[in-house]
Amino acid sequence: MITEFAFSPHPAVSLAIEGSDASFPVNRIFCIGRNYAAHAVEMGHDPNREPPFFFLKPATAVVTNGTFSCPQAAGEVHHEVELVVALGSGGKDIPVETALDCVFGYGIGLDMTLRDIQAKAKKLGRPWDVAKGFDGSAPCGPLVPASRSGHLAKGTISLSINGTERQSGDLDQMIWKIPEIINILSRYFRLLPGDLIMTGTPAGVGPVEPGDRLHARIEGVGEWTVSVQG
Ligand code: MN
Repeated sequence: MITEFAFSPHPAVSLAIEGSDASFPVNRIFCIGRNYAAHAVEMGHDPNREPPFFFLKPATAVVTNGTFSCPQAAGEVHHEVELVVALGSGGKDIPVETALDCVFGYGIGLDMTLRDIQAKAKKLGRPWDVAKGFDGSAPCGPLVPASRSGHLAKGTISLSINGTERQSGDLDQMIWKIPEIINILSRYFRLLPGDLIMTGTPAGVGPVEPGDRLHARIEGVGEWTVSVQG
């Protein structure tokens, strides 16, 4: 048992919880790629049900104050609106049938992506960590406990910029469903309370510019606005 650290551990990043004074401490952020067929097609890939792939963002990528800051000289920065699944419990090799028991609640997240840097990494067979995990790359809104929202399997997910709709889809279009994602991740990672899962984005991704106002909506979760800064 460790009784003393050489320095204070960095405090946990946390998300607000609707209807509660408590906060949700964020552990890891797992993300699934190409989980809506129409988005797979727009990125030039096969929309069929291929094995899923995942990447992670560090917890330090989370921003909760409704702002996003564009990194300097990083090329195009794309918005990807996503349903965030927040785990209140975890485990290893979690069966599909009981996977939803791990879900604490749901939120709206943006998987902000440095698209030019990602495209270059793809071409060279290099990792996506910088393109997907840079500081500020995971703006997240408050969580709605599953006890309030119920478990979400269908409903509109959309994003507008400065009043014009850019992304729109339905949660029922996910290629890999939430219980399946939890099951697959738990084969490789012992899932822990505080882990977040970003569940993929519907079609319509595109660049953001300083001054843009991104308005995201997910049926069953609510609405949330993020302002883009220079
Ligand atoms: Mn994404």
